[in-house]
Amino acid sequence: MKSGVDIIDQASLIVAHDEGNAFEAVVPPIVQTSLFTFSSYAEMEATYRGEKVRPTYTRGLNPTVRHFEEMLAKLEGGEDALGFASGMAAISSTVLSFVEPGDRIVCVKHCYPDAYRLFGTLLKRYRIDVAYVDGLDEEAVAKALPGAKLFYMESPTSWVMEAHDVGALAALARRHGVTSVIDNSWASPIFQQPLALGADLVVHSASKYLGGHSDVVAGVVTGSRELIQKIRSIAYPYLGGKLSPFDAWLLIRGLRTLPMRMKAHEAAALSIARRLADHDAVETVCHPGLGNQLPPGLSGTSGLFSFIFREGADIPAFTNALSLFQLGVSWGGHESLIVPGRIVLAQAAQPNSAVDFGISPRSIRLHVGLEGADMLWSDLEGAIAAAL
Ligand SMILES: *Cc1c(COP(=O)(O)O)cnc(C)c1O
Repeated sequence: MKSGVDIIDQASLIVAHDEGNAFEAVVPPIVQTSLFTFSSYAEMEATYRGEKVRPTYTRGLNPTVRHFEEMLAKLEGGEDALGFASGMAAISSTVLSFVEPGDRIVCVKHCYPDAYRLFGTLLKRYRIDVAYVDGLDEEAVAKALPGAKLFYMESPTSWVMEAHDVGALAALARRHGVTSVIDNSWASPIFQQPLALGADLVVHSASKYLGGHSDVVAGVVTGSRELIQKIRSIAYPYLGGKLSPFDAWLLIRGLRTLPMRMKAHEAAALSIARRLADHDAVETVCHPGLGNQLPPGLSGTSGLFSFIFREGADIPAFTNALSLFQLGVSWGGHESLIVPGRIVLAQAAQPNSAVDFGISPRSIRLHVGLEGADMLWSDLEGAIAAAL
């Protein structure tokens, strides 16, 4: 299989666009407009009859957004893609395009908390049932799939970074005629290509690695022309979670450095994870790249992982002693971040926020940014000493 890094050479990122030559600018323009006018009655009628495809209104089609969609489809090996205003807009529009009242979704446990909450609130209200399965237990997955409408995967999972055999799980879904979707935000197309592994649809929070600079909230789904057309005609225009032209432009810029950034996140995170694993204050490091070989389907690892302190560490003292790692949710940008598990548990204790997330109160999730592994390790080492 071709790795993402080979696919994303600069030539393959050049996507034909139709905005004229725009002064021969090397970067495509931001087509920041809400509507597009017609030069004649005949052209307007041909467009609305469906005889001509061209932008009419940015909620439906915008050239800058289309440029991003084509780049992302190419990277993931999809035939088509749709950009959204957030990862959650991509997830909700995708899921709602495939299910009806009375249907059942099978989902791997410990998925992204707001996806879990979407399933437990809005979907429940429309009598769509979600059954959670252990993604490592292929027998349990095979048992749960018959009769389901959708199989929702996320691998590695959001907090404990449990990596599943995506190819094997997707094959099970296919055998039972169940459409499969995977959230590939963690690995990005550089380190995991779920469509090639047999999944039907791939969703991303583009707010993470695809954007990569912590300056945009966006989402995207990619897959076959037929499945993307289904989302385009059922949920996309009416839920209206449209990606904006400026955000699409930021994502186009972000994608240009995705392979280099992913390699830098991978190397720095692995170096820190190994040093944490050797530290006396640490009980466990949850990082899928620490074994002898990578889990099936993954060709590399990203900058997000977690570890669990041994009993007795003062987590607020650890947190407050850090200077390079900043306290903040999200991840995928240039900067290093931490979230203590206790914070997520505090949120989960609020009404309507409960998540089954497998989090230890002694855990810390780290996003290792691009500042340099040695400096980041000094920061962590000093803060661990302050916690003991
Ligand atoms: C952040 C995140 C999302 C949601 O994306 P938004 O862009 O914040 O809506 C979905 N899945 C995963 C794994 C995430 O980390």
